[in-house]
Formats: sequence, structure tokens, C-alpha cells
Amino acid sequence: MILRVITIKLILLLLLTGCSLEINKKDHLKYGNPSQANTEDKNNYLMQKPQYALSYNCKKGIANWVSWQLDSSWLGDTKRANDFRPDQDLPADCEPVLPSDYRGSGYDRGHLTPSGDRTNNQEDNSATFLMTNMIPQSPANNREVWRELEEYSRDLVDQGKELYIIAGSDGQRKKLKRKVTVPVFTWKVILVLNNSGKIEDAIAVRIPNAERVANKDWRDYLVTIDAIEKKTGYDFFSLVEKDQQKKLEAKVYQ
Ligand code: MN
Ligand code: MN
Repeated sequence: MILRVITIKLILLLLLTGCSLEINKKDHLKYGNPSQANTEDKNNYLMQKPQYALSYNCKKGIANWVSWQLDSSWLGDTKRANDFRPDQDLPADCEPVLPSDYRGSGYDRGHLTPSGDRTNNQEDNSATFLMTNMIPQSPANNREVWRELEEYSRDLVDQGKELYIIAGSDGQRKKLKRKVTVPVFTWKVILVLNNSGKIEDAIAVRIPNAERVANKDWRDYLVTIDAIEKKTGYDFFSLVEKDQQKKLEAKVYQ
């Protein structure tokens, strides 16, 4: 009898552990694949990781965009892994970017999916340090305005909201060692779902990748999603119902 109770408890425990491992398998492309990324084109190369999805541009040495779902299930107390490393999942004919390619450039290895958005466990945090998730980011952009929008996003999550975030860059200021492109602008679009999972708002910013953004507020760089679609040629949130998509993409976040 006692043995049976223990067995049942053990099975329950295993089931619960199994469930908690499943929790974070989120569909990061639930609302669309902005550039129709696929596994044929190495400059629009689709990579789907448990923690985020991205379109990699082998020629540029950076992602075209990275997309990730964010809710409270991803947030915890895990410390920054800081294990910057090449991504080994690129196609054979695409040479991975190395952490040292950024050395001495004056640009940060700037996360697209922030380390701070994946603090639930070591493995998920470590995944944000793959070089496919990095762009050369000007320190004032990365450490100030961009970071402040990242923090604002997590504040929304603390209020019970669920976010679908896509971040990328455009333009070419120069190239670092080998092939890494330094973008002229960084941009981010965020779909905000309310506590009942209904789409309620959208945020879009496009920020110069330059030191002149020091002491600016991310709200100084609010734009429409339409403007970023026009700049990049991507279609964000293409799976959101047409009328709602049109409205959300034409407004500036307040
Ligand atoms: Mn950063
Ligand atoms: Mn769209």
C-alpha cells in the first residue's frame, strides 16, 4: 500500500517535471515569418530554436531579424551566462561569426533577444549568447535607449501581458573584421497581448546605431510598424487579421 502511494507520487512528479519542461516550447513565429525565411536561402536562413527564431544573413554576418515570445514563464533569477560563442547550426557553406570578430571595434556584441528575457534557466539564458543573436551595437544605443525598451517590455510582462517581439537592423555603416555588418539603425516591433491573450496594442521604434542617442528616451524614436515595413521590405504580423493588422501598423504607440 505504502509502496503504491510512493509509486503514484513518483509518477505524478515525473509527469509534472515533464510538463514544466514543455512549458517554454513557444511558437515564436505565431504571428508570421516577416521575410518568408526558409532553409534554402543562406541570406534569409530560418533558424528555429526553443528560445527564439531568426532569419540569418550569411553575407552580412548578422540576423535579418530575431523573433521571440515573452511572458512571465521565461523570467527568473538565472545569472547572465556570458558564454558568447559561434552558432554551430548554420549551413555548411556559411562560416560562423566568432565573438572575437567584434574585438577592438568599439561596438558592443549587442543581443537581439536580450539575456534578460531568458532568465528562467541556464540553458535558455545561454542560448541568447550565440553569435547569430548579436549585432554590432553602439554602446549608447545598447546600454541606454535599447536597454530601457527591453526593461519596459519586461514591465509589461510583469503586468500580465504577453509579447511577440521582433528585432533587427537596417543599413550598413561599415564592416568589422571579416564580414560582420555594422547597421545604421536598430529597430524593434512588439505585439502586445492583454491578460486574456487578446491583441491590444503594438510598439515600434527605429533608433540610430550611434553615440548620439545618449541621454535620449526610446519614446523619442517611436515610429509606425508601416514605416519599418517600408524600410525593410518585411511584412510583420502577417497572420494577424487584416483589418486589425492595418490599424495596429499605422499607429504610433502612446
Ligand atoms: Mn543589449
Ligand atoms: Mn504587416
